[in-house]
Amino acid sequence: MYAIIGAGIGGLTTALAFEKLNIPYHLYEKSDAINAIGAGIWLAPNALKVYEWLGILDQIKEAGNSINRITIATADLKPLTDSKQDEAKEEYGYSTIAIHRAELQKVLSKNVPKTNISWGKGLESYTETTEEVILQFLDATTTSVNYLIAADGINSVIRKQLVPESEIRYSGQTCWRGVTNFKLPVDFNHRGLEMWGKQTRFGISKLSKDKTSWFAVVKSKPFLTDNKETLKDDLLKKYEDYTTVVKDLIANTDTSNILRNDIIDLKPIKKWYSNKVCLLGDAGHATTPNMGQGGAQAIEDAYFLAKIIAEEKTENTFAEFQNTRYKKVSSIVNQSWLTGKVAHLGFGASIRNMVFRSMPKSMIDKKMHYIYTLDKE
Ligand SMILES: Cc1cc2nc3c(=O)[nH]c(=O)nc-3n(C[C@H](O)[C@H](O)[C@H](O)COP(=O)(O)OP(=O)(O)OC[C@H]3O[C@@H](n4cnc5c(N)ncnc54)[C@H](O)[C@@H]3O)c2cc1C
Repeated sequence: MYAIIGAGIGGLTTALAFEKLNIPYHLYEKSDAINAIGAGIWLAPNALKVYEWLGILDQIKEAGNSINRITIATADLKPLTDSKQDEAKEEYGYSTIAIHRAELQKVLSKNVPKTNISWGKGLESYTETTEEVILQFLDATTTSVNYLIAADGINSVIRKQLVPESEIRYSGQTCWRGVTNFKLPVDFNHRGLEMWGKQTRFGISKLSKDKTSWFAVVKSKPFLTDNKETLKDDLLKKYEDYTTVVKDLIANTDTSNILRNDIIDLKPIKKWYSNKVCLLGDAGHATTPNMGQGGAQAIEDAYFLAKIIAEEKTENTFAEFQNTRYKKVSSIVNQSWLTGKVAHLGFGASIRNMVFRSMPKSMIDKKMHYIYTLDKE
């Protein structure tokens, strides 16, 4: 029996993959119900391929919005790179889907049998012996299982026990995310847009017929908080040089729907597992969000872990899992960290823009292909 801790994107997808391959599991989540923040998420073709394999792609398409064009542009909307996702669609069968996180988690959790999830069951710690893993929960109960899968996110209690030296890094950037029913110009309906200004960024994507999400990133210091009274005016000031739609989106978002987060990741750790415990998703390899791949990598983890367990080709399942996933995940964590630095260049921004404008399409396609391909090459 496998215990999966955390019913986020990674834990729920693992449950569905175990269900499909008849691997016995039980999922434990500390919140009483779905714990999704009010923001959008992009699901790239590599994530969608897993959901097709799980038979829930149509439900996800229905709940989200397809992104057929991804543009990085200047603050006044002059494209730096512009990638038509039709090519990706032709090659992989899908373009990216933008979806509200709560909608995604609703689709995932409704496909997991109710008897296999315990809500309101937070893990406090575990004890690993040669025979079993004993789970100690916050409600003072215990249970024992054969294996423990940690899908409990970037602040994983399991990772803190397994790899106590692991470190969270602040990227030097802070992000606000908003969801609004403001009606975008039609040209934006199926377009993922990220604009780079002077040490600031702003991104827009439509999530469904009546919801649009945006994010705003600035250089900052960690652990600061917002004055809710002045938040919108403060943001409007930071983005005053941006194209009108940016200001319209900020002005038309309810302050209660604006979230602030410091942009952090997990400094890569060398080993994700012990004999009976394995880290998955953000618990093992949280990345900055600059490539929109953190969730997709958790989803890929779920797919490969389930397949490796079910194939029973090796005794050392978790070592094989890390071996399969480590190179791609590390390359995304490192590239995403670097992208964040480049996007916020002050001095040198015009050179950066020139380099991006003249970047050959073949180079962009090659990078996209590497990220979007699911099968190990
Ligand atoms: C600003 C921002 C934008 C992003 N945009 C994208 C994007 O566009 N595309 C993309 O693919 N990724 C994106 N990501 C990354 C993505 O959100 C994460 O990589 C993803 O949510 C990781 O999933 P997870 O299941 O590993 O962890 P989480 O989603 O954090 O889920 C962890 C779950 O574990 C539960 N839990 C925690 N501790 C315990 C415990 N002790 N006991 C029981 N349960 C517990 C939590 O309540 C939660 O439900 C973004 C991240 C940020 C910050």
